[in-house]
Amino acid sequence: MGTSSADVIVIGGGIGGLSAALALARRGLRVRVHEQASAFGEVGAGLQLAPNCTRILDRYGLLGEATALGVLPESMVMKDAVDAGELTRLDLRDVERRYGHPYLVIHRSDLHGILLRACDRAGVELLTDARCTSYENVAGGARVRFADGGTDEAEVVIAADGLHSVARELLVRDEPVSSAYVAYRGAVPFEKVAGNDVHEKDVVVYVGPRCHFVQYPLRGGEMLNQVAVFESRKARAGEEDWGTPDELDAAFAGTCAPVQKGLPSMWRDRWWRMYDRDPIMTWVTGRIALLGDAAHPPLQYMAQGAIMAIEDGWVLGEHVAAQGARRTGHGSGVDWDKVLAAYEAVRPEHCRRVVTTARAWGDLWHLDGDRRLRRNALLHGRDVHDYTFVDWIFGPTALTPEDEPEMFRPIPLDTVPL
Ligand SMILES: Cc1cc2nc3c(=O)[nH]c(=O)nc-3n(C[C@H](O)[C@H](O)[C@H](O)COP(=O)(O)OP(=O)(O)OC[C@H]3O[C@@H](n4cnc5c(N)ncnc54)[C@H](O)[C@@H]3O)c2cc1C
Repeated sequence: MGTSSADVIVIGGGIGGLSAALALARRGLRVRVHEQASAFGEVGAGLQLAPNCTRILDRYGLLGEATALGVLPESMVMKDAVDAGELTRLDLRDVERRYGHPYLVIHRSDLHGILLRACDRAGVELLTDARCTSYENVAGGARVRFADGGTDEAEVVIAADGLHSVARELLVRDEPVSSAYVAYRGAVPFEKVAGNDVHEKDVVVYVGPRCHFVQYPLRGGEMLNQVAVFESRKARAGEEDWGTPDELDAAFAGTCAPVQKGLPSMWRDRWWRMYDRDPIMTWVTGRIALLGDAAHPPLQYMAQGAIMAIEDGWVLGEHVAAQGARRTGHGSGVDWDKVLAAYEAVRPEHCRRVVTTARAWGDLWHLDGDRRLRRNALLHGRDVHDYTFVDWIFGPTALTPEDEPEMFRPIPLDTVPL
């Protein structure tokens, strides 16, 4: 289905697929991306990009463009959604000094567009209307088959086909895990909501019983991104039709005025049910490798899903570069078995930690009763310059298991006095 032979086929042109394509093309490889949709694009609103991602964008020469299209917020503020009291904060200018790269918020479509243009400049072949239906290993590489009956073949296939990955079925028989939580989004012109007690320059997260609400500026401050997340009673009751707008209003009924003021500007015609999958430690079979949400879809509470996908591609690119392979008459010269083994040695464990921590953060954010008060006491007591809970994420992306930092050990809530 391609016009010439490629070294690498990437299935899926989301943020994960495009960033992997870029990472490999800038190492001199011929890369072809197959996307099922009729056009490349991203739906949804904002994305938070922590220093472990902006560091990679910088290495790709894309940080300037991302900064120009996004916003560098001053602080991340966590508040209680019931009484609006501040619980703790991260000084993001200090974060930039500490980790050497900024914390950036950006519209998804802007980041996707940056990656798409960079792929184009790097010579990546970008094909649409190509729904991959099966994968198989063949001598010296792997082959993919498409819904229209066509096939394509390369030395390696990177499956970046998202939460409902077809490729994942080669490795494990599992299903997405429903959290019974649903997200509503709403990116609106800032002037429309300027009177709603909003912070112009901060990422603000209101955490409340079975719900939370996030706000941050986008596009140089022209827009405000809002995300409202709540537990669906209908989902818990096993009803099919869950997450509907009537549930949104009911879920936030007990929240403070700034949250209440934000709710009317949420989009009500679509919502995102929140799923992750249990971590898996095998991502590679022969010359087929999973990447991004196909490998490790998280709940979004750590805002690391797209970042992990970008890190995956970076790690592949670095291991290709480390080989210093030379193209021969037969192909790229890359020892893919070595590259994929190095990838699989380091990425699944990191992503397992993030996926499981994201679940735990969700639990912590959504507490009620005494446990909510203990959580608040714990967060109030945190030194705002204590970075132990993000050091293991915001530092440089590990290329080997030895580089992977110690994981943060949470303080058990039961040990916190009321
Ligand atoms: C509410 C919410 C907020 C979030 N906030 C953040 C955040 O602040 N920071 C962050 O880092 N992450 C965040 N995330 C997570 C992040 O959005 C995802 O982890 C990330 O977009 C995954 O990218 P991906 O390319 O792996 O998968 P996807 O974005 O799902 O892309 C998969 C692509 O593959 C294509 N495809 C699928 N199947 C096929 C097929 N069979 N053949 C061909 N093409 C196919 C799809 O059309 C799509 O283009 C958030 C998620 C949610 C739901």
